Amino acid sequence: MSKDELKAKLTELKLDTRGVKDVLRKRLKNYYKKQKLKQPIDTDDAYFDYICVIDFEATCEEGNATDYIHEIIEFPIVLVNTRTLKIEDTFQRYVRPEIKPKLSEFCINLTGITQDLVDKADTFTVVLQTAVDWMREKELGTKFKYTILTDGSWDMSKFLNMQCRVSRIKYPRFAKKWINIRKSYGNFYKVPRNQTKLTTMLEKLGMKYDGRLHCGLDDSKNIARIAIRMLQDGCELRVNERMHNGQLMTVSCSLPFEGAAIPHHPQYRK
Ligand code: AMP
Ligand code: MG
Ligand code: MG
Repeated sequence: MSKDELKAKLTELKLDTRGVKDVLRKRLKNYYKKQKLKQPIDTDDAYFDYICVIDFEATCEEGNATDYIHEIIEFPIVLVNTRTLKIEDTFQRYVRPEIKPKLSEFCINLTGITQDLVDKADTFTVVLQTAVDWMREKELGTKFKYTILTDGSWDMSKFLNMQCRVSRIKYPRFAKKWINIRKSYGNFYKVPRNQTKLTTMLEKLGMKYDGRLHCGLDDSKNIARIAIRMLQDGCELRVNERMHNGQLMTVSCSLPFEGAAIPHHPQYRK
């Protein structure tokens, strides 16, 4: 900006126009800085009474093709109270897959979820409603502010997104933004992304995985342990990932999944 332009701007803002060019520039810069500081911080994503840790398990095959259609078979929620830093309650339902009702041997061995468990379970639409009702009972989103926390971005951006399309339901609003703990962990402890695997994150904090790896509820509890530890260490866990409308798969498309634009994700290529 020229000196005249600076003066014009300062006059417009009813500020002093005296001084050399550098002084005018500094005055204007300072004014903008102060204005910025006055703006209310969007506390929406900054403080939560509760964190809902969700770690879905889904149908799979060994070395799933990138276009493999995963269906959610376990829906767990671990409710963390950010004040007491305790796990206050847990939710767990198995889900009956509809496209491929028969689980692969690989999937059964990986997750420990048996054919019998999913055969007896409700479909995803029913389980999602049960989960939402459970969250309502906890007064989440009404009396209490809460957010979702996941290990990586796949739970929402891939598994839930795909499942909603399979079930022909709208992607739930509450799951459009979340905390990806891998990102938060990496940023907070200054750890490279390839060292943010669940078991590695625990190890680095001097903890051991408790339970059965790839059991959705046990995974969620262990992710919650990491989140609690991070809060104790002074980390302000904030929403750091969102689903944009462009990423949402449209419900109206007919199966099987033509043009399903799921970005290739290296999460399991480790
Ligand atoms: P996780 O939360 O790591 O237990 O994984 C969630 C889901 O990702 C599992 O239920 C599987 O559907 C899929 N998955 C995880 N690891 C593998 C793997 N090594 N091979 C194939 N699918 C996997
Ligand atoms: Mg997971
Ligand atoms: Mg898991």
